[in-house]
Amino acid sequence: AIEVHDVHKWFGGRPVLDGVNLTVPPGTVTVVLGRSGSGKSTLLRVINHLEKPEAGYVSVGGEPIGVRRHGGRLKELSERAILAQRGRIGFVFQNFNLFPHLTVLDNVAAAPVATGRLPRDEAEDLARELLERVGLGDRTGAYPRQLSGGQQQRVAIARALALRPGVILFDEPTSALDPELVGEVLSVIKELATGGTTLVIVTHEIGFAREVADEVVFLHDGRVVEQGPPELVLDRPAHPRTREFLSKVL
Ligand code: ATP
Ligand code: MG
Repeated sequence: AIEVHDVHKWFGGRPVLDGVNLTVPPGTVTVVLGRSGSGKSTLLRVINHLEKPEAGYVSVGGEPIGVRRHGGRLKELSERAILAQRGRIGFVFQNFNLFPHLTVLDNVAAAPVATGRLPRDEAEDLARELLERVGLGDRTGAYPRQLSGGQQQRVAIARALALRPGVILFDEPTSALDPELVGEVLSVIKELATGGTTLVIVTHEIGFAREVADEVVFLHDGRVVEQGPPELVLDRPAHPRTREFLSKVL
């Protein structure tokens, strides 16, 4: 499970996450909604400790991320320990962030080799298998610039899977794509959702949320103002901010 415990994050004297609590049970899918600036990306970045909260903490599989308890207080872990934890949390970005100078195969094989988890040949076998799974088994030798946005994002998903993470975080994985390419990426994510990986997905794709989410969380000004199964939050929202948001995106 991912557990977010009363997280507070400030930027420039302004609260961006203002006491967020959230539990994502193992193998479930949580979709995070909220208007621009509501703190969605910051929440994802706090989960893998790319942002360090001013108060509160996150645990994944019962293990606090980025910190350890020391007496009654939280003490920051070493950079090395944080990197090791981050290796167990996949992250897929809006803009793919592939290595432009590496082939598709090497983009996927790089992390398991660099972290010493797999020898080169096994990492490449795994990369081929994962690329097959996202429908790109025939493009292993291509460079990112030779692929469409949807293909690049599928490579990014395969790359995240290469570290066999228990948890994958998606930050608007389809918002940089042309509309006709959105479906191919969502269908890959949908397959992960049924495969038992714990997913947290920031997206404005409401139809997709309805289909795959176990829980929908609505963030407003850094607070969770509404949370529940999609048929409640999307169809019968209780909070005026959620209603206003949905009336604009639907
Ligand atoms: P969007 O839908 O536009 O991606 P979001 O919900 O992901 O928005 P965040 O990126 O989490 O929003 O940002 C929340 C607030 O925190 C915004 O007001 C943003 O300007 C601010 N913020 C985020 N990162 C930083 C930073 N590194 N330094 C200063 N302010 C930041
Ligand atoms: Mg964002």
